[in-house]
Amino acid sequence: MPMILVTGGAGYIGSHTVLQLLLAGYNVLAVDNFDNSSAVAISRVKELAGKLAKNFSFVELDLRNRAALEKVFTNQKFDAVIHFAGLKAVGESVQKPLLYFDNNLIGTIILFQVMVAHGCKKLVFSSSATVYGWPKEVPCTEEFPLSSTNPYGRTKLIIEEMCRDLYCADKNWKIILLRYFNPVGAHPSGFIGEDPRGIPNNLMPFVQQVAVGRLPSLTVFGNDYKTCDGTGVRDYIHVVDLAEGHIAALRKLDDPKIGCEVYNLGTGKGTSVLEMVKAFEQASGKKIPLAMGGRRPGDAEIVYASTKKAEKELNWKAKHDIDDMCRDQWNWASKNPYGYGRSGDSPK
Ligand code: NAD
Ligand code: UDP
Repeated sequence: MPMILVTGGAGYIGSHTVLQLLLAGYNVLAVDNFDNSSAVAISRVKELAGKLAKNFSFVELDLRNRAALEKVFTNQKFDAVIHFAGLKAVGESVQKPLLYFDNNLIGTIILFQVMVAHGCKKLVFSSSATVYGWPKEVPCTEEFPLSSTNPYGRTKLIIEEMCRDLYCADKNWKIILLRYFNPVGAHPSGFIGEDPRGIPNNLMPFVQQVAVGRLPSLTVFGNDYKTCDGTGVRDYIHVVDLAEGHIAALRKLDDPKIGCEVYNLGTGKGTSVLEMVKAFEQASGKKIPLAMGGRRPGDAEIVYASTKKAEKELNWKAKHDIDDMCRDQWNWASKNPYGYGRSGDSPK
C-alpha cells in the first residue's frame, strides 16, 4: 500500500484523517510541531487503529526546519503528501500577520522544495471556503471568484496560486486542493476530537465548552442577516466525512488526467447558528445560554458548497447530518471536557 506523509497529523482534521488512512490500509508517517495539538492525539490514533498502528510512525518537527524534514524524506520514500500543517485562527492572523506568513508560507515552500528534491510530486492541500470571501450567490462552485479578507485567508489563496504555478511549470505535479467548509464533530468513539488552545474562535468548539461549563454563554455574532432566523448560515461537515474526502482525493491523484484540481468538501446544506445550537442542545440535553452580539467583522452571511464536482469526480459524498455531528461532538466533549489536557476513557 502507498506510503503517505501527513503534515499537521496531530491536529483536529489531521488526526481523524490519519486514522481513516490507516483503517483503509495506507502506511502513514505524520509530522507535527504540536504548536496547536497534543502528543496524546497521536497515541489515541494508534489505539484506535489497533493492529494497523504498525503502519504508522510519527516525527515531531516544524516544517520550517529544513534539515529535519530532509531527514524524514531521506529515510522514507513517500507516494504522496497530505499537507494540513498551518496556523488557522483568523483573528490571530490579523494581529500577527508575519507569524502567519512565516509559518504557513515558509513552511509550505520548504515542504514543496524538499518534495521536489526527493521526487515526490503528489499533493493534497487543505484549502478553505474562506477563499470565496462573501460569495455573491450560493451554493459556491469551484469556479467562483476568489478573495481574502485576512492574512490567514491570504495564506490559503497564495498557497493555492503557488500550486497552480508549480503545475504550470512542471506537469509531473499532481495536486488536489480541497476547500473545506466547516468541519465539526469528532470520531464516534469520542476518543479523538477538536481541542483548540485558549478561547475557541469557531462556533462548535465554543458551544462545546459552554455545554461542559468551561464558558458561561455563547455570543451569537449577528442576528440581522437575511437568513431564516437572522443568524449566519454555514455548511457544517462531519470531520470523519472530511477525512474520507482525503482518501477519495488520494485515489484521484492516480488518475493520469489529473493536473492541479480543486474540490469543495461540504455537504451542500446551509445551517444557521441558532439551528446548530438547537441540534446540539437536543444531542447533549444541555441548555446553551445565548447572548446576542453584533456581527463579527469579515463574516459572510451565507456560505455553503456546491458538492457536485466532488461527487462526480471524486466519487465522494458526505454521509453524516447535523444530528450525527452534534451527537459525536457531545460524545467527545462529555468524555474529554478538557480535551487532551486530562486523560479520557480508553476506547475499549
Ligand atoms: P489544527 O490546528 O488542529 O491542525 C494543524 C496542525 O498543524 C496542528 O497540529 C499544528 O500543531 C500543526 N502545525 C502548524 N504549523 C506547523 C509547522 N510549521 N510545522 C509542523 N506542524 C505545524 O487545525 P485543523 O482544523 O486540523 O486544520 C488543518 C488544516 O485545515 C489547516 O491548514 C487549516 O487551515 C485547514 N482548514 C481548517 C478548517 C477548520 O475549520 N478546522 C477549515 C478550512 C481549512
Ligand atoms: N459564530 C457565533 N459565535 C461564535 C462563533 C461563531 O455566532 O462564538 C457564528 C459565526 O458568526 C458564523 C458561524 O457561527 O456565522 C460559524 O463561525 P465559525 O467561526 O465556526 O466558522 P466561519 O465563520 O469561519 O465559517
